[in-house]
Amino acid sequence: MSLSEVLGVKPVINLAGPLTRLGGMPLEPDVAQAMAEAGHSCARVEDVQEAAGRYLAEVCGAEAGYVTSGAAAGLTVGAAACIAGRSPAAMDQLPDTTGLPNEIVVQRAHVTAYSHALRVSGARLVDVGYVGYPGQGITWPWQVEAAINDRTAAIFYSVGSSRGIVELPELAEIGRRHDVPVIVDAAAALPPKENLRKFIQHGADLVTFSGGKAIGGPQASGILVGRKDLIESVALQHQDMDVYPETWTWREQYLESHVLPGPPHHGLGRPMKVAKEEIAGLVVALRRFLEQDEAAEQQRQNEALQAIADRVSNLPCRAELQDPSVTGRPYPLLLIFPEGGKRTVADLTNELIEGDPSVAVSQGFMDLGAIALLATAVRKDQVESAADRIAEVLADA
Ligand SMILES: *Cc1c(COP(=O)(O)O)cnc(C)c1O
Repeated sequence: MSLSEVLGVKPVINLAGPLTRLGGMPLEPDVAQAMAEAGHSCARVEDVQEAAGRYLAEVCGAEAGYVTSGAAAGLTVGAAACIAGRSPAAMDQLPDTTGLPNEIVVQRAHVTAYSHALRVSGARLVDVGYVGYPGQGITWPWQVEAAINDRTAAIFYSVGSSRGIVELPELAEIGRRHDVPVIVDAAAALPPKENLRKFIQHGADLVTFSGGKAIGGPQASGILVGRKDLIESVALQHQDMDVYPETWTWREQYLESHVLPGPPHHGLGRPMKVAKEEIAGLVVALRRFLEQDEAAEQQRQNEALQAIADRVSNLPCRAELQDPSVTGRPYPLLLIFPEGGKRTVADLTNELIEGDPSVAVSQGFMDLGAIALLATAVRKDQVESAADRIAEVLADA
């Protein structure tokens, strides 16, 4: 059954990319099928996680891996792991961090709307450096180093295009010198697929990716990979602990070996639980993503955007198709600058999503006066009707 059959919500043709607010990417049939079939039976979730974690670790070249309910959840449970380590008492206490190391050092240019996800663990952000480039200042390694003390739990790095920052290899070197782990937010840093391994290679201790963006997995899935001891802490804080010590799945590993004094209770990660359906869907989507021919995929996107550019070419607007080989961005992008002067880009954006068919466009270039279109999350059979609707709206812009 479709969403409109189940809930009466009409579908949106998504020309904005794999955004959470639009439900991410349409799932490929094999991903949807893996989720449906995983739903037909039960399994111990920790076993499912362990098997998936091994696969994620292998793909990313990391010691260990874990499926989270998204990259943002990966930041939260990753930060909790850096704070609590393997102490059940500390796990039990979070997000109250009294007496625990709870500071996360972050360059100001990396304080994003997702930093909140780190703070959910109980962490406090300590931001250093300047935002900008020469004239306004940059972040220096000594500024990061000066912020590290015995309350420091982690250093945070957000993958993006900020200038004047301390880059990951150097940040990781600082972390190693002070025995402080580095957490990397690489949620949207795919493609290229080589990036799955790049940040671990650059020395990160934990790296998180969205499962529901370019990978094309379920929206409520994410990848967290990194150091084995930290991923273990994540797993321990993510369990649903309705068991006696004598029947705990991991009793040999943790109790009989005296590594832990007892199983920790439901931890900070419990409200961010991940179901077997998401885990199965993510693994199948990741396999598919790894096999994808990136050049052919860009070609598909270019063709879809070119068809829309052609459709509006004689309307009062200027359309610019930007090729990734020129822009360095991972996706081709179509910018349309309306020139009719009647309505703002915000008006046109609203009209497109509220119309019929409903078309979502990116707001990434609204400040430059452009409607931006991305073809990552649009199906081929949707392009023509989207082009017609965009032309209809632009004809009276
Ligand atoms: C999308 C995004 C996130 C959140 O990812 P989810 O998988 O949706 O939780 C975090 N950080 C950045 C930079 C993002 O772009």
